[in-house]
Amino acid sequence: MTERPRVTVVGSLNMDISVTVPSLPGPGMTVLGSAARFSPGGKGGNQAVAAARLGAEVDMVGCVGDDAFGQQLLADLQAEHVGTDHVRVIPGTPTGLAMIAVDSSAENLIVVAPGANHEVSPNDVAAAQTAPTDVLVISAEIPVPAITAALAHKPGVLRILNLAPVPPNATAIIKDHLDWLVVNESEAAALLRDTDPDLDPDPDQRLTPAQAAAALVAQGARHAIVTAGAHGAALAGPEGTHTIPGFKVQAVDTVGAGDTFVGALAVALAAGVPAPEAVRAAAAAGAAAVTRQGAQTAMPRPADILAITGLKWPKI
Ligand code: ADP
Repeated sequence: MTERPRVTVVGSLNMDISVTVPSLPGPGMTVLGSAARFSPGGKGGNQAVAAARLGAEVDMVGCVGDDAFGQQLLADLQAEHVGTDHVRVIPGTPTGLAMIAVDSSAENLIVVAPGANHEVSPNDVAAAQTAPTDVLVISAEIPVPAITAALAHKPGVLRILNLAPVPPNATAIIKDHLDWLVVNESEAAALLRDTDPDLDPDPDQRLTPAQAAAALVAQGARHAIVTAGAHGAALAGPEGTHTIPGFKVQAVDTVGAGDTFVGALAVALAAGVPAPEAVRAAAAAGAAAVTRQGAQTAMPRPADILAITGLKWPKI
């Protein structure tokens, strides 16, 4: 392929403040951790950077505040060659913030203050729709009207919805001719419980990722992917159901694994890679990302994926 795949990301932009702790605090507890690290994040920003590092031409659609964190996030996106013409700077509103604690087993706990992300509107989406793109990635840390406006994007553009976190009335969103739905296991369980309240809430009785993906296709998504951390991912769609085993890696920090997966999937699909192969490539990108600290800082380039997982990044 001579032209670079084009990916537009509609989603959140946050400053991540991360602290490593010996164990995650429970309610009412205080734990002492490492020095705080400041790094660019938010599901949208993460997915945009993941896609750019894997060779796509990326345009970001979102909002930041007119504060130092907002300026820093814009500069960081530009340094990663992500287009920021459609990132709106909102006066008098704080930039989104995420406070992240990571323990010694790489498990994490995250509190998000959405700030300017709450201002992303259908108008922001409409303004970005004049730019040509192959794949539109939408994540759910922005208001539902912006999500539904993005899903109504003109035909011919593949839409990937990463329904994380699961918003209220989510089933109405996925019913509507969605090309690709990507969720992790707990998001899949929340979505499926939404449609079938009788579903067993006991985690031990949950559907397997493959069963959950098939159930989400039955809800209206053309393709559904359920990601399952170290266990890999499951894909259901017109090509049948596939289980993609996880790549064996030494996990250091799992923050951003799902976002790397989604960004990588977008690039592979925009490049015309067939569905199961695109999901395998995305799983390799997610696995490579957990071997390093941080969200965007850990996101791999094709050479990293090859070195860490042995997978050669697909080029069409
Ligand atoms: P989220 O971060 O949204 O919860 P997951 O934890 O399911 O998403 O991770 C997304 C993808 O990243 C997985 O489907 C898998 O391919 C890869 N991944 C995540 N954690 C690991 C791990 N410990 N080992 C190997 N691959 C992983």
